[in-house]
Amino acid sequence: MIVSGLHKGKAFKWAALAGAVLFVVYLLWPVGTLFPDDYSRVVTDRYGNILRVTLARDGQLRFAQESDKLPEKYVKAVTMMEDRRFFHHPGIDPFSIINSFVCNIRTGKRVRGASTITMQVVRLSNPRKRTYLNKVIECITATRLTIQKSKDEILKLYATHAPMGGNVAGIYSASRYYFGKPLDEITWAEAALFAVLPNNPSMINIKKQRSELKIKRDRLIRTLLVKGIIDSTTYALSVDEPLPPVKSRLHFEAPHFAELALRSTERNLIQTTLDLKKQRDVENIIRRYCRSYRDYGVANMAALVIDNNTSEVVAYIGSQDYDDTISSGRVDGVMALRSSGSLLKPLLVGRALDRGPWVIQSKVQDVPSYYGTFSPSNASGEFQGMVTIEQMLIQSLNVPAVRLLYHYGQADFYQDLKQMGVSTLFRSADGYGLSIILGGAEVRLWDMCRIYSALGNEGLIRPVRMFDGMEKENDSSRVCSPGASWLILSSLSKLDRPENEKYGHLFSDQIPVAWKTGTSYGQKDAWAVGVNRQWTVGVWVGNFSGEGNPFLGGAVSAGPVMFTIFRQLTAITKPLWFDCPEYDLKRTSVCSATGYLPGPACPQTTTVLTPSQAWKTQQCPWHRKVVIDRQTGYELCSRCWDGKEKKDTVLLVYPAASAEILRKKGFAADIMPSHLSSCTAVRKKKSNISIEYPTDGITVFIPRSLDESYQQVVCKASSQTESSLLWYLDGKFLGETHDFHNMAILCNPGKHILSVFDNEGGEKRVNFRVVGRNTIVKNGD
Ligand SMILES: [Zn+2]
Ligand SMILES: [Zn+2]
Repeated sequence: MIVSGLHKGKAFKWAALAGAVLFVVYLLWPVGTLFPDDYSRVVTDRYGNILRVTLARDGQLRFAQESDKLPEKYVKAVTMMEDRRFFHHPGIDPFSIINSFVCNIRTGKRVRGASTITMQVVRLSNPRKRTYLNKVIECITATRLTIQKSKDEILKLYATHAPMGGNVAGIYSASRYYFGKPLDEITWAEAALFAVLPNNPSMINIKKQRSELKIKRDRLIRTLLVKGIIDSTTYALSVDEPLPPVKSRLHFEAPHFAELALRSTERNLIQTTLDLKKQRDVENIIRRYCRSYRDYGVANMAALVIDNNTSEVVAYIGSQDYDDTISSGRVDGVMALRSSGSLLKPLLVGRALDRGPWVIQSKVQDVPSYYGTFSPSNASGEFQGMVTIEQMLIQSLNVPAVRLLYHYGQADFYQDLKQMGVSTLFRSADGYGLSIILGGAEVRLWDMCRIYSALGNEGLIRPVRMFDGMEKENDSSRVCSPGASWLILSSLSKLDRPENEKYGHLFSDQIPVAWKTGTSYGQKDAWAVGVNRQWTVGVWVGNFSGEGNPFLGGAVSAGPVMFTIFRQLTAITKPLWFDCPEYDLKRTSVCSATGYLPGPACPQTTTVLTPSQAWKTQQCPWHRKVVIDRQTGYELCSRCWDGKEKKDTVLLVYPAASAEILRKKGFAADIMPSHLSSCTAVRKKKSNISIEYPTDGITVFIPRSLDESYQQVVCKASSQTESSLLWYLDGKFLGETHDFHNMAILCNPGKHILSVFDNEGGEKRVNFRVVGRNTIVKNGD
């Protein structure tokens, strides 16, 4: 018996030891994750103002931890309120348990819980019925938690998940939701409120029991004073603070932008670069203009503002009003695909200046031109004969822009645009053709602003940022060189401003803005994008439905909005304009009249700035030294000038099409005189041109269209050289063709002479007869 008793005692000891070991193992066994990873997503502006919050999956407004450290005020307040020995007890507080047990027995009901903050964390993570058994389980889990986690971590878990009234959970969301500020800026009164709110939240409600809540808060502030944590001044100020107002709606600022931010990252807290105050200012401008534009039948507008110093988005207005469901207010006009109008012209000029042979004062022909079936026209319907590239930009002329693109190379420019990050070119270069420069391709306001902003950054395209750590795109690509960027900005700053800018505002002229307008075909889109040292502002006006409107024009409807935004945002005390990048510009001497390298005949030269890298050059093609017969005016040469009274002269001989238009406009334009016909040097030149249709002597029958009108005759010619061809019908200039020599004409019944010339003096003509009724001759516009 004694032996077995001894054994029993031993066995018991072993069992006890085993039990103790098991218990220790249990205590040390990882508690695992207490809370699912389920938080609200928050989009804020650059100063932390909330733009948008989403609810967590469980419907709670619960923000994830924002910083490593809880604010000291909150730590003091919440431990004072809930668990004074929190930092010293093992997760359960024996004093508190005894105290509450005694208290409950004495009063006969449960007035005090003995829950520590740690036990409340356990309960929040896994709510159970309030029974004594569950209380024991909670106590054990709380001990395990205390062993495994630091006090700091436990308090943070509590702070993140404690109920704060309604569906607000945790102090991070509460400080933003109730006070609109980050947690580290809270006052003692606010910290005290956060400490008392979770305490029986169903009874104390920030919406209904406001006075009880304030009494409870002030009592805690009083305790903080009594315990010497705050002084009496702080106490007095704190109890004076009112409770936060009741909110009825979650934040809903910069809606299109906030949605884009949420789509662009997985992060829970997205601190963006937006400036809520500036956003609201620009929104107000957009609303105001939109109200008056509505009378003209224009419903939609979008705007984007980029800070040029940081390449950050500061304001982003996707539509006139997100809630305007009648006019598709949800559509995001900043990202929508719209025809670019003329917005790509400066980009072509930049690339053309970088390569050469053009300088910004080089002349380009502005004459009726045909490229296959494509025949561009200017918005005015008129031609100027010859214009400089700068005039082309300032007046946004289509015909010379197409000509520049034709000579620069349409496939090259298409590649340039892709390099610049125009992300919306879904067709091939040929699919767009030359019309890409006039709005044949669809672009985003976003891309346009990004690229124009680069002009203000010495041509270097930086990724436009919406928030920190945003994915980089198109790093280190360029619009053009620093020199070319500066030349373009200078040209674009000379654009005529809208009426209200020119006269309406006294200070408007003090804000320099390089800007470009765009109007798409059919007047469906109006654009204005402007740049100064501080901002890039892009405005799009139109109808999301795609409906055209005669009121829509870059300068008329988008320009005034853009300038109003500039006036609102530009700080005139800061630098307004760009420094000239002299290191990247060289001085080049060019012919004053034509803007190409001076040739031996050019009478006058002038010095212009060109990008250092420009390498391609061309001599002035239009100044010619000729010897003429003083008597007859015929051209002479060494073989035929003997005995003649000769005269040296310099002529500016523009291509015939340009010369004709210039003469009509009253400008002097020289004509190349014919060579003396008796000269032995003049051989009958064999023409390189052939006219395939109509053939000589043919009778052309013109059929009627369904609408009874007479159709055009498509004439075809070909040339053995690469020269463009000039077309005349009965001596009247029709236009110029390149590559594909087709010319559609409308002609009266009767006899006609069609003449075609090339640039080398070659000519071909045919006679033909037309059968049909009177119609007008259509010329090139
Ligand atoms: Zn010249
Ligand atoms: Zn001769």
